[in-house]
Amino acid sequence: MHHKSGARSKIPARREVSARPRRGEDSPAPAVGARRIRAVHRRLVAQQGTFSPKPRLPIIDELVMTVLSQHTSDANSGRAFAALKARFPAWEQVLDAPVEEIAGAIRSGGLADQKAPRIKRILAEIEEREGRLELGRLNELDDQSVDSYLCSLPGVGPKTAACVLVFSMGRAAFPIDTHVHRIVRRLGWIDSKASADQTHRRLGPQVPPGIRYELHMSLITHGRNVCRAQRPRCRECVLLDFCDEGPGFIARGEHATADRA
Ligand code: SF4
Repeated sequence: MHHKSGARSKIPARREVSARPRRGEDSPAPAVGARRIRAVHRRLVAQQGTFSPKPRLPIIDELVMTVLSQHTSDANSGRAFAALKARFPAWEQVLDAPVEEIAGAIRSGGLADQKAPRIKRILAEIEEREGRLELGRLNELDDQSVDSYLCSLPGVGPKTAACVLVFSMGRAAFPIDTHVHRIVRRLGWIDSKASADQTHRRLGPQVPPGIRYELHMSLITHGRNVCRAQRPRCRECVLLDFCDEGPGFIARGEHATADRA
């Protein structure tokens, strides 16, 4: 994921993304209410301090950036995006380029042979629908319509759509990245077996719109520094008394200790 140096500034409270269950899917309410979510947000912000928003990218740029950010670091995906733009200054050039050349340009972002055809498919679909490679008109649509449009593009799911909504369009979306997903399961906010997409649909609407962006950012920072996938630092965690799994990690000795941080 990119965007990890995001903002504490208030995101304008635009219309909410309603993560409605799709046909045939259950959508039990998460085991958390807005009050607890706000309390967790306050603690994380108190610990982490303020952060600044990164400049907004145009919608297609953000879409491509989000594809590049998958399964790699911000630094790598940022380098890959810069290299892609340097090699092909216009998206039309990417669309016209052989997929091997696109892959060559984004090699530093990892999984280039998967991401290059994916980017090309997305651009081709946008061109087919819009007659050009420009999505500024989505700014006139409500959140749900933007979400539906983006999720109907090839290979674009709810997380990518939420990233575009929040980072490019300033809407109140709540992307569920790998850190957010891990932490909300450990906190007990969502069923431990819930997929990221299920978590998006079930938990997203529960998060107060005004704190979605900031909570997303602070959970990512928490996931990198404290609630790591392996040996979380539960004893130092400001969320320990809110957490379902933290006491278990400590009891089983699976948390980080001073000599095994
Ligand atoms: Fe993660 Fe441990 Fe904190 Fe729970 S107590 S949020 S598992 S670091």
